[in-house]
Amino acid sequence: MIVDDVPANIRVLVNALSVDYEIVAATRGNDVLRLAERAKPALILLDIELPDVDGYSLCQQLRQSPSCGQIPVIFVTARDHEADEVRGLRLGAVDYITKPFSSAIVQARVRTHLELKRYRDLLRNRSDSDGLTGLANRRRFDEYLAQQSATALGAGTSLALIMADVDRFKSYNDRYGHLAGDDCLKRVAQTMREVFGDEGVLVARYGGEEFVCVMPETDRGSAQAAAEACRRRLLEAEIAHEGNPPDGLVSLSLGVAVLESIDKQPAHALCARADRALYQAKMRGRNRVCSQ
Ligand code: GH3
Ligand code: MG
Ligand code: MG
Repeated sequence: MIVDDVPANIRVLVNALSVDYEIVAATRGNDVLRLAERAKPALILLDIELPDVDGYSLCQQLRQSPSCGQIPVIFVTARDHEADEVRGLRLGAVDYITKPFSSAIVQARVRTHLELKRYRDLLRNRSDSDGLTGLANRRRFDEYLAQQSATALGAGTSLALIMADVDRFKSYNDRYGHLAGDDCLKRVAQTMREVFGDEGVLVARYGGEEFVCVMPETDRGSAQAAAEACRRRLLEAEIAHEGNPPDGLVSLSLGVAVLESIDKQPAHALCARADRALYQAKMRGRNRVCSQ
């Protein structure tokens, strides 16, 4: 994305970059946040002197925005004082290019910053997701549950947690082999993704054959219904599991818990209750939902 109030300046940058990249341009600073949220650019080239807002404060706003904070910003400006450049870099811009610039240098710097951005995204993605199923991993779950329980307690909204465990999975591995076991876990993950696809709901692999689902603004009744839908959907997939009587199909036991306003360590208390509910589901015969 190129932001400059002078169309001729935009044209020069477009000429330098349009062979390799798709470009969105803005001439008004006030449009930038909204446009960036929609277009999700990989990089922003930002002029400092704009008639409606100051480029520095725009850079700051972008960096603080939850959806645009990770987009690298490069200042492209006629201000060539050292202090201006220092200020821009301190605000978190990744680079500072002064006008008039060489097209070859802009191309090279843009390429470098896009490559760095790709690596950063890859790293963040890997550190948040489970390698086998592609779901969020335990680390991401812990972080999300801590955030959401704090938000729910603060706002007085409800928060539900579902814990699910594949029934007699050890026997599945013993009978069909670990590779088939892995495929089975992928299918369970896929089923959960489909059932809990709502925005804000996080499905994660808790570990082994256990999965969790964080449901913001969800009460007990809705969480139980969702857990029940998930249990049913997996049965309907009819994955053979001879060691799991009476149906001989892969099934899930699920425990549901909701946050209580008196919870001192909310994330911990919620996990402990969901775990107890899951244990109860196992004790009562598996392939069912229990709630605590
Ligand atoms: P229950 O119904 O009581 O939950 O019985 P279970 O056999 O599912 O429970 P248990 O905890 O005894 O066994 C879980 C099994 O899950 C043991 C382990 O080998 C298997 N498992 C854990 N992670 C993986 C994995 O990534 N791939 C495969 N194939 N198996 C896994
Ligand atoms: Mg288990
Ligand atoms: Mg199990």
